Amino acid sequence: MSEKKLKFNSKTIHGGQNPDAAYGAVMPPIYQTSTYAQTTPGGHKGYAYSRSANPTRTALENSLASIENGNYGLAFASGIAAIDAVIKLLNPGDEVVSTNDVYGGSYRLFKQVFEKFGIKFQFIGMQNAEAIEEYITENTKLLWIETPTNPMMNIIDIKAVSKLARKHNVLLAVDNTFATPYLQVPLDLGADIVMHSATKYLGGHSDVVVGALIVNDKDLADKLYFIQNASGAVCGPMDSFLTLRGIKTLHVRMQRHCENGKAIATYLAKHPKIEKVFWPGFEDHPNHEIAKNQMSDFGGMISFIPKGSNYENAIKIVEKLQIFTLAESLGGVESLAGHPASMTHASIPKEERQKSGVVDSLIRLSVGIEDKADLIADLEKAIG
Ligand SMILES: *Cc1c(COP(=O)(O)O)cnc(C)c1O
Repeated sequence: MSEKKLKFNSKTIHGGQNPDAAYGAVMPPIYQTSTYAQTTPGGHKGYAYSRSANPTRTALENSLASIENGNYGLAFASGIAAIDAVIKLLNPGDEVVSTNDVYGGSYRLFKQVFEKFGIKFQFIGMQNAEAIEEYITENTKLLWIETPTNPMMNIIDIKAVSKLARKHNVLLAVDNTFATPYLQVPLDLGADIVMHSATKYLGGHSDVVVGALIVNDKDLADKLYFIQNASGAVCGPMDSFLTLRGIKTLHVRMQRHCENGKAIATYLAKHPKIEKVFWPGFEDHPNHEIAKNQMSDFGGMISFIPKGSNYENAIKIVEKLQIFTLAESLGGVESLAGHPASMTHASIPKEERQKSGVVDSLIRLSVGIEDKADLIADLEKAIG
């Protein structure tokens, strides 16, 4: 099947998938095995040891490559493990330029784990792609971006940044966790590496922790595969199966996430007790035009600031919500609410956090696929 020709809504179901060779199972079996019988040393069917490769993981990796329009997919034990593998492409003295409201766990990995190995990280505002160039030095090897960003919903122009990356011969990696390939396909826009926390929308049911990388270039894929096997943070067979099952409904879930997201963003924006709503679908969002160009819709992630609110107030609101569950994470079928300053972004120092707009009163919503009337009623009660 020439599946590069399939439409996205078919790739989620068929991309990289074939009925199992042994019995024709339509879903790939969970190959819960660490090792494989060999007829003679090296005489195996492509699988020798499950850190190096496992058939259920291969099925997921092929699906990931297909939905992101890439040639190679790699599945990891977590999103962070996938990021860890990318940074291990670098050497001491190399520099990375990243965005100043990057995911808190990425920031922690960069600053607290990799900086002591001599890799330098700079965190800058990237809403204006041209402003990035002055931070690129001869030691810069990687641009690490996220769009929309978490939790400020800033939009970065992937095409413009990829042009800069080409010009300076540096790699561009895009964390596509928030958008998913349903909304935007970074490899088509010139990125070299796409990364996912498949824990979120790809898995979609808040039941796994999984990470992914997708690339087009064979040489880059080989290097990442070497690191995946050498460092060993691989995705297990059961988690591979669950993520694959999640991906099969990604397009229908995303459609509803977008529909509900729009309804709730619009409701909040009109609410007299709400100061500001951050959602790229608004025409007055500073990079709305770029969002419109590179995304097919605007997603279900929304942040907002209640009027006259502070740390305690914001916490009171999230505690009052009943259908929105107060929890870390995002992208599942159920709606979640979070308080970035004390939860997802607590590992970023307060001054850094506030510089990028993550104030103490900010609340983040991951709008699920429940009935939107119930979600709005829940917010109405909590905001008061
Ligand atoms: C959750 C998340 C990660 C980290 O992924 P894990 O699966 O939790 O390790 C990275 N980037 C973004 C944008 C995330 O939301």
